[in-house]
Amino acid sequence: MFKNAGAKLMSLSKVIFGILAALGILTSVGVGFGVGGETNFIFGFLAFVIGAAIAVLGAWLSTIMLYAFGEMCENIRNMREGMGYTAPQEADLSQMASQFSSTMSSAANHIGNAANQFGNTVGNAASQVSSRFAAQKQQQPMPNAQQPMPDVQQSMANAQWICPNCGKPNAPGNAFCTGCGCTRN
Ligand SMILES: [Zn+2]
Repeated sequence: MFKNAGAKLMSLSKVIFGILAALGILTSVGVGFGVGGETNFIFGFLAFVIGAAIAVLGAWLSTIMLYAFGEMCENIRNMREGMGYTAPQEADLSQMASQFSSTMSSAANHIGNAANQFGNTVGNAASQVSSRFAAQKQQQPMPNAQQPMPDVQQSMANAQWICPNCGKPNAPGNAFCTGCGCTRN
């Protein structure tokens, strides 16, 4: 399909030129009718001729590069063959496919091994963390929630206390209620 690409480009550029030129001429027929209408035939014909000329020139300009490139490729190929050069052999597709698949499978193996190692590392770390956490939990029991923290006790000692028996507020230092004489507890 891609052999003798230069010669193919040369033929292809002629085909593309033909299509572009034909489309351009058809378009300029429409332009000619649009300009001249049914009344002024001379103007319409002039517009058609100018439009067609521009279309053909545009088609030629847009395909001559492609043609020239194809010609250059052909010339280089002919020169190489004249100097005893043999065209490069195209690689065997099935060989390429098998190389590709073996490369992919070894890459997949590597990825699988790496994933295994990662999983082991993460698992070890997680079990170490959980065992350390369990050991800490045993060594340091949670503080008794019913016993207020020391600073809370301190602030309670500095605050007024209300007698639970008669409801009278008492000064912080009072050990007995000034209302009913009961012991502060
Ligand atoms: Zn009291």
